[in-house]
Amino acid sequence: MNPNIVVIGSLNMDIVINVEEMPHEGQTILGTGFSEIAGGKGANQAVAIGKLQASVGMIGKVGADSYASALLDSLKESNVDARHILTSPNRTGVALVTVNQSGKNHIVVVPGANFDLTPDDIRNQRHVIEQCEMVVLQLEVPMETVNCALQLAKEAGKTTILNPAPAKIMEEEMLKNVDILIPNEHELSEISGMEIADERSLQEAARSLLAKGVKAVLVTLGDKGCCYVDKDRFQLYPAHQVKAKDTTAAGDSFIGGFTASYVKNRDIDMAVKQAQIVAAITVTRPGAQSSLPTLEEVQRFAV
Ligand code: ATP
Repeated sequence: MNPNIVVIGSLNMDIVINVEEMPHEGQTILGTGFSEIAGGKGANQAVAIGKLQASVGMIGKVGADSYASALLDSLKESNVDARHILTSPNRTGVALVTVNQSGKNHIVVVPGANFDLTPDDIRNQRHVIEQCEMVVLQLEVPMETVNCALQLAKEAGKTTILNPAPAKIMEEEMLKNVDILIPNEHELSEISGMEIADERSLQEAARSLLAKGVKAVLVTLGDKGCCYVDKDRFQLYPAHQVKAKDTTAAGDSFIGGFTASYVKNRDIDMAVKQAQIVAAITVTRPGAQSSLPTLEEVQRFAV
């Protein structure tokens, strides 16, 4: 059986090194910790959806190395259909993250195999898109691949969700094929070219994207919650009050929570409610995929 939701995007191994102080140029220091954590926005969002027991599969590309098998295992353990992950002769994508004692980080991403995911790879798997209901994308794979996937999905009448991260490389032309755009505040500002200082400018920036063809914009606002804008409605939703420990993957968990509910109920309020619970739980725990909650945890939080 093919999945109801298809996530098309990146898989990275996050190599995290803890240090007391960041090294200066040319300096060698001793680290205080080391870990390898499955990541990549595409994989994080797919895992968030899978942990909520919605039917999800992923299209992406890994290298022919040991990181690839660890990343595939992580998808499978979270109920994500990984049959459509392709392999390239390149290395699997990695993110080298150095974190100091106060939580400040330096990150270098080497996209590797993620950048080998081509429009032809997507066309060859068009049956997966044609048999699903919803396609979820980010911008960590080549732009022409994202464009091609959005186009195929719209031709097949599917709902498309785009998380425009990193926003710097967003192409305006793709917006016409997006049903729901989910940026954070900085990404919205970057894409719209407008400064966001208050509720009014937030609404204006989101509405400027509706004029470019997006059907709805759902902006995440960190601990302030989120806001939904379409042609008829502007709605702010406050975040849950929790003690945040590590906000890594807050946005990815929010998108996972939203999509897993929206595919079933097609109700924005219900989907936002689940998204904010999933994200609130995620920020109280360390790590990316490791911090994503299960459906039972979400249900327990909701009562
Ligand atoms: P990241 O890049 O770290 O994954 P993001 O910038 O894409 O995050 P945010 O806007 O920071 O995403 O957060 C996404 C959602 O997570 C928010 O809409 C909110 O529901 C929830 N959230 C984030 N921070 C907090 C917090 N401190 N308390 C409660 N909820 C939070």
